[in-house]
Amino acid sequence: MRIDIITLFPEMCEAVMNESIIGRAQKKGALEVVCHQLRDYAFDKHKRVDDCPYGGGMGMLLMAEPIALCFEDICRVLEKRPYLIYMSPQGKVLTQDKLKELAKLDNVCILCGHYEGIDERIIDEFVDEQISIGDYVLTGGELPALVLADSLSRMTEGVLSDDVCFEEESHYSGLLEYPQYTRPAVWRGREVPEVLLSGHHANVDRWRHEQSVIRTAEARPDMLEKYELTAADKKLLEEKENKK
Ligand code: SAM
Repeated sequence: MRIDIITLFPEMCEAVMNESIIGRAQKKGALEVVCHQLRDYAFDKHKRVDDCPYGGGMGMLLMAEPIALCFEDICRVLEKRPYLIYMSPQGKVLTQDKLKELAKLDNVCILCGHYEGIDERIIDEFVDEQISIGDYVLTGGELPALVLADSLSRMTEGVLSDDVCFEEESHYSGLLEYPQYTRPAVWRGREVPEVLLSGHHANVDRWRHEQSVIRTAEARPDMLEKYELTAADKKLLEEKENKK
């Protein structure tokens, strides 16, 4: 996958995307992230990309033309039109299901707003989808873009060592992940559950699934409304409830 990010702060995005797992994935060619400085597409000598909103009001808006020129340039280089996502608190909130859908694409372009946002005509003309990272407002689209780019990257083939790495994690299957432990087996008097030391893989798998079901029921009961519990899962939760 190639991810293009249109931003006023490309260094901020590069700093994050060139580190750790995503940085290594880029070096080995499993992923490409290209950050574009929106000011490079300003058309006045002051490199201005924002202006006051018509009708008055606080703050500034990113102008349509520099964004359009930047996006069209990306389309020219790619020789195709990438799927354009505008990070916005007005978009649908990002979910793992949305990531599964987006991970099928070869090219995604992410537009970061700033100040009061962007000229609405860019949304009408080019934007395929608006995505929010939650019901709160940040000063700019860079952190939301990085959240999307990171979560999308790790689902791209070759970025993690194995697909199991993301398939077993919270949300992918509709459940939260089970508790995990590493050495030592006893830490400050707290022991690792015995089953994890048993070497019996089927028992470990069963225990992990049960823990996932219990955790999800306790922390995120709303997730279970969409998850198909087995008869054994339901019995487990009933038993847990009766013990309270
Ligand atoms: N005036 C806009 C509104 O009320 O909908 C908010 C603009 S916000 C201060 C500036 C930029 O930050 C937005 O254009 C967007 O790109 C980004 N942003 C802020 N909060 C966000 C969120 N929850 N999810 C995604 N992007 C967000």
